[in-house]
Order: sequence, then C-alpha cells, then structure tokens
Amino acid sequence: MDIPRIFTITESAHRIHNPITPDKLAALGAALRLEPGARVLDLGSGSGEMLCTWARDHGIVGTGIDMSPLFTEQARRRAAELGVAERVTFIHGDAAGHVAEEKVDVAACLGATWIGGGVAGTIELLARSLRGGGIILVGEPFWCRLPPTDEVAKGCHANAVGDFLMLPQLLASFGRLGCDVVEMVLADQDGWDRYEAAKWLTMRRWLEANPGDELADEIRAELASGPERYATCTREYLGWGVFALMRR
Ligand code: SAH
Repeated sequence: MDIPRIFTITESAHRIHNPITPDKLAALGAALRLEPGARVLDLGSGSGEMLCTWARDHGIVGTGIDMSPLFTEQARRRAAELGVAERVTFIHGDAAGHVAEEKVDVAACLGATWIGGGVAGTIELLARSLRGGGIILVGEPFWCRLPPTDEVAKGCHANAVGDFLMLPQLLASFGRLGCDVVEMVLADQDGWDRYEAAKWLTMRRWLEANPGDELADEIRAELASGPERYATCTREYLGWGVFALMRR
C-alpha cells in the first residue's frame, strides 16, 4: 500500500508536507494548551513532525497513521531522533475509517481531508475517536483571493474555483457542521515557499541521481514549469490553515 510515487519523490526531504512552518506548528501546539499525557490522533501523519515535536514540547502521547511507507519510516526515525519514540506510534496504513480504540483529546487531519471524503466526512470520522470536549484539528486550503479563472485554480492544486472557499465562508461552514471554531493558525507565503520551493532542489537532485527513471521526464517538466506556475497561482491565491474545532 503506497501513495503515488510522484509525492514520495518530490517530498522525500520534507519534514512537514504542508505550508505550515515549524514555528507555526509550535504556535499551534501552544495555542491548544496541551496537557502532558494528552492523547493525539493524526490521520495522514506524513513524516510525523507534529506528533514528534508536540511529544517533545508538551509530553503528549500520539498515534499517527499514514499510507506512505517512506513517510512512516521517516516519522519513526524523527521520533527516535527527538527521544520521543516511547510516546508516539506511527502505523503504516489506510486511515480511511480509522477510529481509535481509546478516545483521544485531539483528533487531527492536516492536509489530507480526502481521507474522510472531504471536510465534513473527515470531521465525522475524527469525532468518532474524540472524547467529549476534545478538539478536532483540520488543515485545509482556502482562497485568500478568488482566482479569476478555473485555469488559475488548476495551478493551485484545485480542479476549479469551486473546490475551495474563501476564509470567512470556510469558517462559517464549520458552524454549519455543528462545530465552534476555537483556534486557528494560518499559513503565509513564506510557509508556501518552504513547502513548494523545497520540492525544487529535491527534484533537481533526484533527476541527477535517477536520469533513466520512468518518471524522469515528468519530474523534469515539473521542475522546469513549477516555479513560475507556483508564483502565478498558489503563492498569490491559495491560503491554508489549521482550524481547531469543538462540537457544539
Ligand atoms: N499531515 C502531514 C502530511 C500531509 S500530506 C503533514 O502535515 O506533514 C498528506 C499525507 O496523507 C501524506 O503523508 C500521505 O501519505 C497521506 N495519505 C494519503 N492518503 C492517505 C490515506 N488514505 N490514509 C492515510 N494516509 C494517507
């Protein structure tokens, strides 16, 4: 079981597979006022940076589930590196339908809400693992400016303008799903640069090491066109944030 190989090539050197930066991830952990021993579930945990750093900084106990064997292995290595391997567990698997055996204080899905079939389904899924009064974290894109055309939207990880909401509408949509928004940490352009621009050096080095690979042409084309498209589209139009929700 694995995710499409293109992601494990372009994001193999990423610790965080989203436009949130280490300082913002730390700000989010502090904002949630996590108690030592708090249980955190992370669906689509990637390379585990959130759980590992929160285990180090706040003494949380975490479980992450991710479909990528590479990212899961990187998460385990990161846990050992930070001395928190006793506190966090990383499971390689499909997180769709995953419900924790023991209820958690925080249930998260950052930048992987397709796991629950969209934001609404992911909130439902996370809620099934959550103790009463617990916090749901959803990491999701929104438009900070409305793209003028679907063409521009396609350059922003979307299929059409209608795929994402503006921030006020996204916040309102959480209310319609029965949730209070109790905190949020938003990405900025520097965060997008860390996520997107970091792929370019990784791609360049991968191309040098793997010139004959079946994906070499695709990666070469992406490296050639990605930076300009990114500056035209994602960097100008797309926002991203982590929203902390409590059910009403
Ligand atoms: N939350 C992490 C990773 C976000 S990238 C971070 O912020 O760094 C999206 C992640 O979802 C990837 O690691 C990918 O491997 C994982 N993923 C995709 N589909 C999945 C599924 N069905 N079940 C579990 N993980 C999945």
